[in-house]
Amino acid sequence: MRRAVLILTALLLLFSVSGCARQEKTAEFFAMDTYMTIRAYGGGEAVSEAERLIFKLEKKLSVTDPESEMSRLNNMGEAELSDEAAELIGEALRICGLTGGALDISVYPAVKAWGFTTGEYRVPKDGELSELLKVVDYRNIKIEGNFVRLGEGMLLDLGAVAKGYAGDATAALLRDRGVGSALLNLGGNVQCLGGKPDGSAWKIGVQDPKGRGYIGVLECRDKAVVTSGGYERYFEEDGATYWHVIDPSTCRPADSGLISVTVVGESGLFCDGLSTALFVMGKEKAAALWRETGGFEAIFVSENGDISVTEGLAESFAPSEGRTVSEVIRRDEN
Ligand code: AMP
Ligand code: MG
Repeated sequence: MRRAVLILTALLLLFSVSGCARQEKTAEFFAMDTYMTIRAYGGGEAVSEAERLIFKLEKKLSVTDPESEMSRLNNMGEAELSDEAAELIGEALRICGLTGGALDISVYPAVKAWGFTTGEYRVPKDGELSELLKVVDYRNIKIEGNFVRLGEGMLLDLGAVAKGYAGDATAALLRDRGVGSALLNLGGNVQCLGGKPDGSAWKIGVQDPKGRGYIGVLECRDKAVVTSGGYERYFEEDGATYWHVIDPSTCRPADSGLISVTVVGESGLFCDGLSTALFVMGKEKAAALWRETGGFEAIFVSENGDISVTEGLAESFAPSEGRTVSEVIRRDEN
């Protein structure tokens, strides 16, 4: 009898421990200028820790916070930065180079001139844009260890990569705390850890850039899924739409024929930088980069609503009812 009770107690204990490991914890908060949610299974207080980590990174990286490291760098033209900020700038500069400057973290003066930092939107005159072009060139950012120096008149903005970096850091923290299943949504930057608690893949909706719904659903595990879209921040004037992704070669809103790009890969930072860059480059150049470098997959939505996917997503992306994939971009062009 006593033995039976002991076995029963042990079993109950085991169930409650495994139940605990699968317990869902969530956090919803506003950071980095966007609405964020974290959902994790197991890991105790890891979700609260993750939330604090994101606020800590925001304090360092935000260009609109006058106290941040980035503001110090922009005001002084040079600064010794924290490991995190220096690491992020170093990695972002690598993506700027890889994309031939379609990503350019020194495009901030142009972002400001169009009013995207304040919401006081305006269309700058040609003369003003040609002046801006002189200070936008990531190649004039010098980094040595944690010391960063900017060329004359330059200003940095990590808005195109900071959420991806925060996603990687958060995923690493959760993993470190023993979380095997989690879904992070950092305002359009989705990152998943493992699969769902039941072992199946996470299903991630890819937003329709022209409407409220989804163009389709993507199945993934341990991946970052990052979208850059014209719809995220824009204004209209005299019948024209101007959005917040700027082509650094013109200092005007990107005009590549695309209205959204979703990049899927291992690293949130890489996917974030690339999604912005591919939006600027347009589908043909983006496909050429994908063939050349690999390491990511992508979904493109063109102005006319056509959806194209790189072949690595042909199986895992299911278009919503009434939508079709117009083109699967193949590695072998023929
Ligand atoms: P994302 O939503 O990741 O595509 O990032 C867009 C944000 O990055 C904008 O709101 C700007 O602050 C900044 N940005 C816009 N165009 C570029 C560009 N070509 N390269 C780097 N940052 C950019
Ligand atoms: Mg981005």
